[in-house]
Amino acid sequence: MTLSTPDIGQAEFQLWVHGVLRARALGQMVRPDTFDRAMSAARFLPNVIEQQARQPEFGLSIWEYLDIAASEERVRQGRQMLRRHRDLFIDIERRFHVEPEVVTAIWGLETGFGVIRGKTPTLSALGTLAWKGKRSSFFEDQLISALRIVQSGHVSEDQMVGSWAGAMGHGQFLPSSFLDFAVDFDGDGRRDIWSDDPTDALASIANYLAKHGWRRGQPWGYEVTLPEGFDYALVGLDRSLPTASWSALDVMTASGTRLPDYGPGSLLLPAGASGVAVMVLRNTHVILRYNKAEAYALGIGLLADRVGGGRGFVGSWPTDDRVLSRDEISEAQVLLTALGYSTRGVDGLRGPNTTLAARMFQSDQGLVADGYLSGDLLDRLRKSRGA
Ligand code: CA
Repeated sequence: MTLSTPDIGQAEFQLWVHGVLRARALGQMVRPDTFDRAMSAARFLPNVIEQQARQPEFGLSIWEYLDIAASEERVRQGRQMLRRHRDLFIDIERRFHVEPEVVTAIWGLETGFGVIRGKTPTLSALGTLAWKGKRSSFFEDQLISALRIVQSGHVSEDQMVGSWAGAMGHGQFLPSSFLDFAVDFDGDGRRDIWSDDPTDALASIANYLAKHGWRRGQPWGYEVTLPEGFDYALVGLDRSLPTASWSALDVMTASGTRLPDYGPGSLLLPAGASGVAVMVLRNTHVILRYNKAEAYALGIGLLADRVGGGRGFVGSWPTDDRVLSRDEISEAQVLLTALGYSTRGVDGLRGPNTTLAARMFQSDQGLVADGYLSGDLLDRLRKSRGA
């Protein structure tokens, strides 16, 4: 009998699981009987490797993304969930001091309020990534954490399912986050984030936010307007000023009132000077601990506001502009550097060095110096280089 390629893959995977991984897991508080039982059904999943390799480009503009994140349908469902689980959310807020709207927003964006929790067996997914994936040591750590979760009896190995990347349950917790932040809120002795009943999972999301410093009673941020001639060097998550300093610069709320004082804040212009401007506060940094993408944090904030009855952003977006691909951002970086505005490398990402270089170019050209790489700016760079 000859073995087909997938069979050979499985055989090699099993050799690695029992010949290499087992010893490492046993060295990290996983018992032999736990390991052998839990890993007996684990399989190499080639499609997980394909998913990881695919890593689709984030091709949406920020306004398209926010439209999806806080769509009318999601807002409607979010309000419905708040009503359905009203008593639970009251208990969660009492215990963790986190508002129901933000927990609901994370629930909605992570899994469509628990509908899309993922069905990939977690031990197989993490085993596959730990064996053959990128960032294998990270995923091996997650796998060993997953085995410790099974060992503690919170879930059986066959019920431990989630995304292809090992994120589990209503809030898509990785195993390490589970160990640190999941809670048993219904008091049955198990921290169960996987079941249809979202009690433990929602409390776990709240606990995650609380442990990262959530401040109840403060917004995540709010929309602002900027005066003519504003200095865009002050924009970015890495810049922070007290409210009084922003007020002194004539930054106002979107309704034209003085800024409320919630302590230091940072100014974000996700689509440059011709889009919406947002003042983000401490709670946005907490959301960023859940997912470090700026767009995600804005999506959560906006959805939470809308679910809570807020109107959302009122400013306009540069919808006639196009979103640059990674290749185009790389091209802009090459052009900026060639024109004497060094981006300190070419990586296709909008980092601080690239923003600074773009701002210097814009300033020398007499343009609004917001440092935002738009389609228009790339066209100008191409012309300048050609000239
Ligand atoms: Ca429980």
